[in-house]
Amino acid sequence: MKCNICKSKGINIENGIYNLPFHNLKLCKEHYKSWFEKRVLYHIKKYNMFNKEDKIAVALSGGKDSISLLYVLHKLGYNVIGFHIDLGIENFSTKTKEKILEFHEKTQIPIKIYSLKKLIGASLPKALEYTKRPPCSFCGAVKRYYFNKLSKDIGCNIIATGHNLDDEVSTLLHNILTWNIKYLGRKYPVLKERNNFLRKVKPLFHVRNIEVLYYTQAYELPFISTECPYSTKSKLDFFGNIMNNIEKNFPSTKLNFYNGYLEHFDYFSQYFTNHTKLPDLQNCQICGEPTVSNICMICTLKEKIKGA
Ligand code: SF4
Ligand code: ZN
Ligand code: ZN
Repeated sequence: MKCNICKSKGINIENGIYNLPFHNLKLCKEHYKSWFEKRVLYHIKKYNMFNKEDKIAVALSGGKDSISLLYVLHKLGYNVIGFHIDLGIENFSTKTKEKILEFHEKTQIPIKIYSLKKLIGASLPKALEYTKRPPCSFCGAVKRYYFNKLSKDIGCNIIATGHNLDDEVSTLLHNILTWNIKYLGRKYPVLKERNNFLRKVKPLFHVRNIEVLYYTQAYELPFISTECPYSTKSKLDFFGNIMNNIEKNFPSTKLNFYNGYLEHFDYFSQYFTNHTKLPDLQNCQICGEPTVSNICMICTLKEKIKGA
C-alpha cells in the first residue's frame, strides 16, 4: 500500500499505512494525523461550535474518544482543559485516573480531576444506595450537573464531549425504532446554551470509532480500554452491530444515515417544540444551578448522604 499523498509504502498500520476504505484513502502516519485534524477543524467551523476566544471544557472519561478529542482540540490551538470526575469505583476509577495522569505527563495539556466523594460525600457505588435510578442514568445526571457547574466555576463557556459517529448512529437507530421524538428533537451536534446551561458540542460526531483509535495509535496516546462495571453498553453495541452489518453491504450508510438526520433536524426540533411542554427551569435555592424544583437533585442527594 502507498500513502495517497507522499507515496511512502507500507503493508499495514504497523508499517505506518492507515487504510481508510470508507474514504477511499490510504495514508502514512503523518498524513493521517493531518487529515484527521483538518476534518475535525472543518466540522467545528461548519457547525459553528466554538472559536479561539472560547474556553472549552472537555469531559474526560479516560477512554479513547475523550482523550483524542482533548488532544486534537489542543493541537488545533483551541483553549481547552480536560475535566475528569473520579467516581470512586474500585479498580476501574484508579486505573482510569492513572491513564489520565499518564496522558497529562505526556502532553502537558491542563487537566482537572475532581473526586465524587469530595463533591457529594460518597463514591458512586455508595451514592447508588440513595437512589432508585439505574446506575448510568444516575451517574450521567451527576456528571452533567458537575461538568456544567465546575466548568463555569473556572470560566469555561463550552462543554465538549467525545461522542463519535458510531455512538451517534447506534443511538439514532435505537431512537428511530422507538420514535423517541425527545431524542430526535434535541441531539444535534451543538446544543445551544440556555438557562445557565453551557453550550454542548460533539466535535467528533462525524469520525468513525476506528478512525479515533487510529488517531490514538498515531500519537501513542494513553487511554483506558476496560469498561466501567456498570456499563449497559451491550444494548447500544447491539444496534452498533446492526449498523456495522448494514455498512458491510452498503458502504457509507452510517455517514449518510447521520447526515440525513442532520438535514431533517429542523423538522424534528420543530415537532418536538410544538408537542412537548418542557418543565420551567429555576435556579436551585442552595447551589444556584438550573433545576425543575426549588432544590436540585444534587443538593437533595447531598443532604441525604450528610444525614445518613
Ligand atoms: Fe457512569 Fe455508566 Fe459510564 Fe459507568 S458506564 S461511568 S456508571 S455512565
Ligand atoms: Zn504520506
Ligand atoms: Zn442545588
